[in-house]
Amino acid sequence: MKNDSKLIKAFLKEKQQSHLYRKAHISRSPQQPHMQINGKSMLTFCSNDYLGLANHPEVLKAFKQAADKYGVGSGAAHLISGHSIEHQKLEEELAEFTGRDRALLFSTGYMANLGVVNALMERGELIFADRLNHASLIDAGLLSNAKMKRYVHNDMGALQKLLDKNTTKNTMILSDGVFSMDGDIAPVKQLADIARQQNAWLMIDDAHGFGTLGATGAGLLEQENLSQQDAPILMATLGKAIGTAGAFIAGSHELIEYLIQTARTYTYTTAMPPSIAAATRASLKIVQNESERREKLNQHIQQFKAGASELGIELMPSDTAIQPIVIGNTEKALKTSTQLQKEGILVTAIRPPTIPEGTARLRVTFSAEHTTEDVAILLMALEKNL
Ligand SMILES: *Cc1c(COP(=O)(O)O)cnc(C)c1O
Repeated sequence: MKNDSKLIKAFLKEKQQSHLYRKAHISRSPQQPHMQINGKSMLTFCSNDYLGLANHPEVLKAFKQAADKYGVGSGAAHLISGHSIEHQKLEEELAEFTGRDRALLFSTGYMANLGVVNALMERGELIFADRLNHASLIDAGLLSNAKMKRYVHNDMGALQKLLDKNTTKNTMILSDGVFSMDGDIAPVKQLADIARQQNAWLMIDDAHGFGTLGATGAGLLEQENLSQQDAPILMATLGKAIGTAGAFIAGSHELIEYLIQTARTYTYTTAMPPSIAAATRASLKIVQNESERREKLNQHIQQFKAGASELGIELMPSDTAIQPIVIGNTEKALKTSTQLQKEGILVTAIRPPTIPEGTARLRVTFSAEHTTEDVAILLMALEKNL
């Protein structure tokens, strides 16, 4: 249907008219609260660099030293000649950090999700997925050709009902740990109980919890004390709180060996550059050693929630660094975001189809690198523009 430039033009026009047209901002500075964006100085509240590690001097130093030693590109897939000692060590450190037997690196979180679900699930089998799961988990399910049943967000009764009707053998329960557009948390303990009773796989995507949650930053499963037996498939990304790029799956020795043999997004793609792995190793050390970064992040979250409550700004039920303000109407959300940009504050409007129709929102996120003053400035701007 798109094999016609007129149709494409009409499509683009329609997107513009319905305020759904998407366009990237151009930044000329590192990822940090104060950035140069579209030629303007901006105070930003939309990054996933929650701990402020994307431009941390130690991480940068490790990256540069590894680039000097290993060059830039990894040159090949892991199973050919692209698996360097830096990748190997990072996998070992990630396994230890998450308390799993093994970990396996993927070039992105999107690819990790596609790879695992497709390696484990096939036509005729069943996946139970939270309705608000990240797009990559939805696509992973679709690509696998397994039947995907989506349950009401975080509704364990609804999930149990669906499972009670299940007669297929190989099943999987799939959920975000921290929901990327809402900031709330999946009831992972209950999910683990249900999965155990039903003998189903449980896969938790902890993209936003890894680094920010848990006593040592190992994520939601650390916070909720869930072992490898409780939650056998853990996925987390390295491009968010960890500040670098890529992702990993952690689990049993057998699971990882199985993925090495079968996950197509592991086999048929170039390994991440060794310098990214080296930078990630430096970043993990900071995550583990500097719990004050998580404390500072949490102070900002508390300050924002208390301030918003005082101003009568309604927030979603989230205690994480993701604090969305639902506007509802797409045009209005976009206008508010544009107005804030004019005042030098970048908070992006999240619109359908990323989130359900009628729930357009400003997705506010915080970083440990923000200051109390930054949060106060945001609150004042929101008071004026909402
Ligand atoms: C960002 C994100 C991903 C994708 O990770 P990338 O490394 O950016 O590809 C997967 N799942 C969730 C929940 C995410 O927020």
